[in-house]
Amino acid sequence: MKASRYTISTLKETPSDAEIASHRLLIRGGFIKKLASGIYSWMPIGLRVLRKIEAIVREEMNRAGAQEVLMPNIQPAELWQESGRWQQYDEGLLLKLFDRNQREFCFGPTHEEVITEIARSELRSHKQLPVNFYQVQTKFRDETRPRFGLMRAREFIMKDAYSFHLDEQSLDAEFRNMYDAYSRIFSRMQLDFRAVIADAGAIGGNASMEFHVLADAGEDRIAFSNESDYAANIEMAESAAPSPDSTAPAPMETIETPNARTIEAVSNLLGVDAKQTVKTLIVKGAKAPLIAIVLRGDHQLNEVKAAKAEEVASPLTMAAEAEIRAATGSGLGSLGPVGLEMPILVDRDAAAIANFVCGANRDGYHHINVNWQRDASATRVLDLRDVLEGDPSPDGKGTLSFKRGIEVGHIFKLGDKYSKPMNATVLDESGKAATMMMGCYGIGVSRLVAATIEQYHDDKGMVWPTALAPFEAVVIPVNAHRSEAVQKAADEIYAGLIDAGIEVLLDDRDGHRPGAKFADAELIGYPHRIVVGDRGLESGVVEYTCRKTNETTEVSVTEIIARIVETVRSERT
Ligand code: ATP
Ligand code: MG
Repeated sequence: MKASRYTISTLKETPSDAEIASHRLLIRGGFIKKLASGIYSWMPIGLRVLRKIEAIVREEMNRAGAQEVLMPNIQPAELWQESGRWQQYDEGLLLKLFDRNQREFCFGPTHEEVITEIARSELRSHKQLPVNFYQVQTKFRDETRPRFGLMRAREFIMKDAYSFHLDEQSLDAEFRNMYDAYSRIFSRMQLDFRAVIADAGAIGGNASMEFHVLADAGEDRIAFSNESDYAANIEMAESAAPSPDSTAPAPMETIETPNARTIEAVSNLLGVDAKQTVKTLIVKGAKAPLIAIVLRGDHQLNEVKAAKAEEVASPLTMAAEAEIRAATGSGLGSLGPVGLEMPILVDRDAAAIANFVCGANRDGYHHINVNWQRDASATRVLDLRDVLEGDPSPDGKGTLSFKRGIEVGHIFKLGDKYSKPMNATVLDESGKAATMMMGCYGIGVSRLVAATIEQYHDDKGMVWPTALAPFEAVVIPVNAHRSEAVQKAADEIYAGLIDAGIEVLLDDRDGHRPGAKFADAELIGYPHRIVVGDRGLESGVVEYTCRKTNETTEVSVTEIIARIVETVRSERT
């Protein structure tokens, strides 16, 4: 490709609404252009990257045995009414439209209904199962806060896949198959990613896993082990269960603690570590009016975990101070489990300590040397806290670290969530109608372009892995209009690289100074740059720069093509 015939629309200024690197660089590099909030056009150079990512996704989906289809963007309301989602789907995300006959439609934000409609009419017998259909397609979700460019757009490109099965074992196997395919996709893209437990589902095993690219710009926070592949959304993350402290119980005492209403104040006053204290929170109960939750003093309540406890009213609601005082006779600063007349849920770590400090349910007093069983009893011991960095991983391997993640993929066991209301059945071995089991598997293809840049950029611009770069190499002739030798050498190198199958751009733009071309090359991030100039040619060399290492070397004109071809071939995945 010759730059003189190619639209390169780089910008010097950073767009004012761009808060993260990928958004800034995609706009400045002229990869995308904003049309409206959360709606972008793909410019030629950006589309090349998108197509490469799509190609990797397609290759791996095909290799995994999935079949490509293409479903309509516009979906009839009736289908969504059948599944029950016309009203239920996340408030406002659905873009609804009318045709000329006032029939209602939506622009697809996802395609479970459409694929289930296809499956129920196409698949008749269990012998046709399992199957997995996928597509790469534009979706629309009317996000409340579109931002960060491609990261959270309203119109975006997704690879969505849907599998159909006779039974759960078959669904489990396909879930595993997709897990492996996703791991291959993100590895081929050279991304630093983790497969994260998103929801420990009811159908057994982890029914939903998200794939996250690790990057500070990510909207999610994940905890992962430094020694195993355990990773989970912070909301879901667990640590290994503690072993109980076997110190002999000392006699319990009640101590005056005036003005000490926080764990910090109490532990300072008594000279004990916060780890040796517990705190007591009171929430509304599902059956009993109030429920106590006891945590170690240095731990925080995990509201997602607490909300799942059957004793707790949903949504999780903290009790008001007046209610607490009426029930316990104490204010918030002196609560504790001793003598408390309500169900008590105790976090595993709080349950493991001996001789702890807690409020005495009397303003200005605390107990010391409190021990479970002897002094207070737990209704139930369970995991109720947020994990901390450094906690032991729940699989017993290593400790947990935290990072931010960008959700680029999501695999989900749907079970019969759609097939049941939509009556998608096949005949099983005995000739009876059986509701099919479903899985769904999404990849944010356009979001991946942004996520890749978050991991691959420096202060000058994008630094593409060769497998994803818009062009693998750029040839920049310096002042070719003044030198026939430069023009000729650059043309020959360009032609030689094209013949060898290298994706190369010749930056032959008139009216661009060399400095501007270099800056564009760094901004766009071509992995390999060859600069052809008069001075070098006098001694038979060109300048070669590797974008990743930023190192420049002189390479002889006769060797440069072979050098580039060899390097690029070794870098393609
Ligand atoms: P998020 O939690 O980021 O809103 P989601 O869980 O609603 O995403 P899914 O329904 O799981 O999204 O969609 C599959 C994939 O599509 C996601 O993993 C993500 O990579 C991508 N995706 C979802 N919403 C957007 C968006 N607004 N812009 C770009 N990509 C998106
Ligand atoms: Mg998701």
